[in-house]
Amino acid sequence: MDWQLFFRSNLEQVEMYRPGLREEQVRELVEADDLYKLSSNESPLPPFPAALEAMQSKLTGLNEYPDGSSYELTQYLSKHYEIPAEQIIIGNGSNELIDLIAATCLDPGDNAVYPWPSFVVYRSSTLIQNAECREVPLKGAGQLDLDALLERIDERTKVVYVCTPNNPSGSVVSTSDFEAFLAKVPDHVLVVADAAYEEFIDDEEAMKPLRYFDGNRPFVVLRTFSKMYALAGIRCGYGFAPAPLIEVLHKVREPFNVNTVAQAAAIASLQDGEELERRVALNILGRERLQKCFDDLGLRYVPTQANFVWVEVDDPAATFDKLLKRGIIVRAFPGGGGLRVGIGDTAGVNATIAAFNELFG
Ligand code: PMP
Repeated sequence: MDWQLFFRSNLEQVEMYRPGLREEQVRELVEADDLYKLSSNESPLPPFPAALEAMQSKLTGLNEYPDGSSYELTQYLSKHYEIPAEQIIIGNGSNELIDLIAATCLDPGDNAVYPWPSFVVYRSSTLIQNAECREVPLKGAGQLDLDALLERIDERTKVVYVCTPNNPSGSVVSTSDFEAFLAKVPDHVLVVADAAYEEFIDDEEAMKPLRYFDGNRPFVVLRTFSKMYALAGIRCGYGFAPAPLIEVLHKVREPFNVNTVAQAAAIASLQDGEELERRVALNILGRERLQKCFDDLGLRYVPTQANFVWVEVDDPAATFDKLLKRGIIVRAFPGGGGLRVGIGDTAGVNATIAAFNELFG
């Protein structure tokens, strides 16, 4: 049986997403007692206490379908950000929204322009639509090259992604660079600003995309509850887009895309500003300590504004294995020349620093 006959031919180029290693996959390789999963840019902490309570309260109602319009969460976000509800969409993770944008906007033969390396779903969602991927290498020390992104835009470009902070480099786009970029993007191109890690930013020069959202120009902002809000397991993200685009995204999405528990957890999390501040501070402290450790050891890294840091090492695969033995699970990318190291909680950062000191000190 030639199974390829059944499949759309463009899917041959699509690679399956490879998530960071899970604890149970590596337990026997690890010599240390404690294991720190720093491979998927997740929060090292549990969901916010208020979110745990809200999720618990929804369990007995799970015999019913969720609210397919995510009405309450949309209304909450609308008030929180002062943006009309018809310009907001909730997704099963922001990943779903990226897929929806591709499914909604890309015809075969169109192209999407995005930085590389960056979030791999820009690539897979484009290929699945039989559209062309235009990947623009990062410049200098892991920065987005906005001029090069502009250069790759042509009349068949439908979408350009700007990921800030960028995964996996952790670098941000500055306000001034972004303004110059936005002024030059042609009207037929949808700019998608992926701000999955925005809550972690403390650099005042860093661009916060919602500031440029006016509900008219072809500009989308994506955010998520997976990272700072520690809800990766429940899948909830949100997007801001002009109402005509939101209308079509709703047609393309599945009817009950966001589950009941996720909707409740998201609202409860947004209401707890104090917990947010505490966690922002903890992450900043952790990344500063880790970067200082890299400075002390003479390792090159990209100064990060996210909850992970990209560090260059001569032999990423070997370093990955050595860290793993010491209980530190990080992420290596094929041919990447470095490792992406998540910022753990205090114990996780202590263990990461101890392991790097042992290996490179
Ligand atoms: N954007 C970026 C830049 C990411 O790194 C990720 C996940 N790692 C996502 C979007 C998707 O996140 P989620 O679907 O959990 O919201």
